[in-house]
Amino acid sequence: MSDYEILVENAKKFHGGLCPGIVMGTRMTIAAMKELGLDPKERSRDLIVYVEIDRCMTDAVQAITGCSLGHRSLKYVDYGKFAATFINMKTGKAVRVSSVEDRSKDPEDQTMEEAIEKLATMPEEELLKLEEVQMEVPENDIPGFPKQKAVCSKCGERIMDGRDVIVDGNVLCKACAKGPYYKSI
Ligand SMILES: [Zn+2]
Ligand SMILES: [Zn+2]
Repeated sequence: MSDYEILVENAKKFHGGLCPGIVMGTRMTIAAMKELGLDPKERSRDLIVYVEIDRCMTDAVQAITGCSLGHRSLKYVDYGKFAATFINMKTGKAVRVSSVEDRSKDPEDQTMEEAIEKLATMPEEELLKLEEVQMEVPENDIPGFPKQKAVCSKCGERIMDGRDVIVDGNVLCKACAKGPYYKSI
């Protein structure tokens, strides 16, 4: 079995089904990891991935690499783009992989199975663009023991990893400083 055949199964299981995004994410992950000199079938503690979308593709990245929010090795950048940057923290090499496949020319009556088959078999250069990029992971974003801790002077909640802000000399959490994303009732 090819790396793709093995790994797409892991991604499918994690996601709860097979779809074009899972195929895309699997191929992206394999291509980027190989470019970084890593074996996509082996989990690397040195890998950090910045994903640019919160859709199916991202589940494939997580399932295959083992990178997750909880391990601080998966970062979400809300660009809404089918792309991700893989960083080998050991070597410092970073590769951004993005989808260049043009689905606008696909027949309108194309079934999901046909779309999956097309994405799975398409030559890599028609599907993906790989570019080496420079990435500096901020100190407070690196996995491991927290370097900064604070307590909000207004709500009293703990704030990890330097996410606190100083307003008029007071330590505040972002919710208290800028207003929360939720509404208290
Ligand atoms: Zn899906
Ligand atoms: Zn607060």
